[in-house]
Amino acid sequence: MSRKFLIAGNWKMNLTPDESAALVDEINSLTGSQTSVQVCVCPPFTSLPVVSSKVEQSEVHLGAQNMHAEPSGAFTGEVSAEMLRSLYVSHVILGHSERRQYFGETNASINSKVIAAINANLRPVFCIGETLEEREAGKTMDVVGAQVREGLVNYPSSALDLLVVAYEPVWAIGTGKTATNEMAQEVHREVRKILSEIFGESAASSIRILYGGSMKPENAAGLLAQPDIDGGLIGGASLSSKSFCDIIEAALSTQA
Ligand code: PEP
Repeated sequence: MSRKFLIAGNWKMNLTPDESAALVDEINSLTGSQTSVQVCVCPPFTSLPVVSSKVEQSEVHLGAQNMHAEPSGAFTGEVSAEMLRSLYVSHVILGHSERRQYFGETNASINSKVIAAINANLRPVFCIGETLEEREAGKTMDVVGAQVREGLVNYPSSALDLLVVAYEPVWAIGTGKTATNEMAQEVHREVRKILSEIFGESAASSIRILYGGSMKPENAAGLLAQPDIDGGLIGGASLSSKSFCDIIEAALSTQA
C-alpha cells in the first residue's frame, strides 16, 4: 500500500500573525503548487486566520496545534473543533509531548480529543513517544503501545483515512538529538504492528506514521527512506522556509 509523505511544520508558540504571513508566503512560493508530497503548516491559534487566507490558493494544508474535546462551553482559553473548521483547518496535532508534559494531557484526555476531531472531519496528527528515562529502562514499546491503544480507544475503522500518527521520541524533540534511522524504523514497525492488531493488517498498512524529533535537511533523507516512516513532524526546522522546504525536497526525492 503506497502512502503519500506528509511533511508537517509545528510552529509551536512562535511567530506573530505578520511573521506567520511572511513565512507562509515563502513556503507557498517554494512548494505551494506541488502535490507529490503533502505539506501542512501548524501555526499558533492567533495566526490561523491569516495563514488560512494565504494557503487557500495553494496546496499547503492548515493545521492547529491543539483543540478541546467539547464543542462549546465554559472552557476559558480553549478552542473547539468547529472553530478550527470555520478557519478551514484540516489537521490538528493532538497529544504532543509538550501538551502531555506541561498541560497534564493523558492518554484518556487525548483519546477524547481524537474522537472529537474525527467527528468534525479533522485529521488528528496523534503524537506518541517515550522519554529518555523510559527508553533507558527498556520500556519504549510498553509506553508507546499503551499510548496507541489508549489514545485510539473507540476509534472507528470507517475514519482511518483521517488518522495520522506521529512518533516523536521525547528525548529527540528540540534537543538536536535524532533517533538513528534504525531506531526510528524499529519503533515505527512496532507501531504499525499494534495498529494492525487493532484495525487489521490492510488498514494499518495505509495509516501514515510520521517521525518527529530534530528532523532537519541533513537527516531527513535517511529517516524518510525507512519503510515505515511516512513523513515528518518538524518543529525547529519548520520556522525557516529554507530548511522546511529542503526537508520537503528530501521527501520528494525519496519518494521519486
Ligand atoms: C515537535 O515539536 O513536534 C518537534 C519534532 O520539534 P523539533 O523538530 O524541534 O525537535
